[in-house]
Amino acid sequence: MAVSSPYKYIKIPAGARITVREDGTAETPDNPIIGFIEGDGIGPDIWKASQHVLDSAIKHCYGNKRSIAWMELYAGKKADEVCGNYFPHETLDAIREFIVAIKGPLTTPIGGGFRSLNVSMRQELDLFACVRPVQHFKGVPSPVKNPQHVDMVIFRENTEDVYSGMELQAGSEDAEVLRAFCMERFGWEIRPESGLGLKPTSEEGSKRLIRAAINHAIKENRKSVTLVHKGNIMKYTEGAFMKWGYQLVKEEFADVAVGWADCNGDPGDKILVKDTIADIFLQQILTRPMEFDVIATLNLNGDYISDALAAQVGGIGIAPGANINYETGLALFEATHGTAPKYAGLDKVNPSSLLLSGVMMLKHLGWVEAADVIVKALEKTYQEKKVTYDFARLMDDATELKCSAFAQGVVDNL
Ligand code: NAP
Repeated sequence: MAVSSPYKYIKIPAGARITVREDGTAETPDNPIIGFIEGDGIGPDIWKASQHVLDSAIKHCYGNKRSIAWMELYAGKKADEVCGNYFPHETLDAIREFIVAIKGPLTTPIGGGFRSLNVSMRQELDLFACVRPVQHFKGVPSPVKNPQHVDMVIFRENTEDVYSGMELQAGSEDAEVLRAFCMERFGWEIRPESGLGLKPTSEEGSKRLIRAAINHAIKENRKSVTLVHKGNIMKYTEGAFMKWGYQLVKEEFADVAVGWADCNGDPGDKILVKDTIADIFLQQILTRPMEFDVIATLNLNGDYISDALAAQVGGIGIAPGANINYETGLALFEATHGTAPKYAGLDKVNPSSLLLSGVMMLKHLGWVEAADVIVKALEKTYQEKKVTYDFARLMDDATELKCSAFAQGVVDNL
């Protein structure tokens, strides 16, 4: 039964609203209304598969006591078809009103066209932390010898850095004005016809992200938080991120955490906060992954690091993610890969990324039992070698399943 709605296209289902406690955590009713965006390309296939597993696990764990009232939100191609607009404002309003949502991937044109819908959503809703847990699941094929040594949670700053969208096109009048100003004011010589972009990195933006990472380390009994940056080159942006991180430890977490320089690398029973340069970090996650636990980093670094780490544990087809504002409680869970257009509508790809994002969402809601049974069922299905094409091509004697059949396999293993 749909209820009367202030929205033009979104239909609100019968259910109850999630509320946010003072500490930013979710207070979840037994029948929460949760928004979903199907996504473009492979989005509809992986969403259908994931929804089936999520609903089945909830039923399996809680019977009729709990269920999610799914509410469709529009963005991307489907929004254009339904609302005549790729990014209707009511989608943002509904996420603000209903607090928690989950989305499939959305297409972004390269080198022109409209701005990334993903980036716009993160910025408009101020979802400042992109959280990506990276761990190996038994049975998943990996290109490294010991993928089980990778167990990290990446906190990537989501609203600043070179992703903030402050760019001017080469040859435009505005770019020339900025170029002339930079020369006159700072003596910076920039070649004519250069594209220009800004890399804003603020103390507030850095500290709130690093605060979320340290709080996560405390909550999950993690041993260290590593600040990953390129502060050796970009001193007043990436270097400042590191400096503000160490400052924050002293200001707010002195009883539970300590910076490397203040303990000579021996934190006792406190959480060790250390830092590393982004390029050497990409080597160390391959050679010494066990030394890293929670990672806090800037926007662009975080994007590269997430995919590099995902590759070590089976690829982006299996990497989950969430965009969270730990102050307002708004949370948008999402598949971390793109729309893989060549596979659109083929019922072929791996739904694990979106499904595991749903698992993160269940944990966020406090429905831990349902989250845990899905992970166990997923591992069982991988170990039975009943997998989608991406894993089948890396395994001997695998049974290759379609996306929907894989989801059914997971449900059968609940
Ligand atoms: P992509 O869509 O992630 O696909 C790259 C490759 O990754 C695919 O060809 C496929 O590899 C593999 N892959 C992706 N998802 C998979 C899945 N569920 N199961 C198995 N394999 C999977 O990256 P892209 O081609 O660079 O981007 C396409 C579009 O997506 C662009 O418009 C881009 O902007 C957008 N995008 C959106 C998001 C988002 O919404 N969060 C994120 C990234 C990109 P094989 O070819 O080897 O099979």
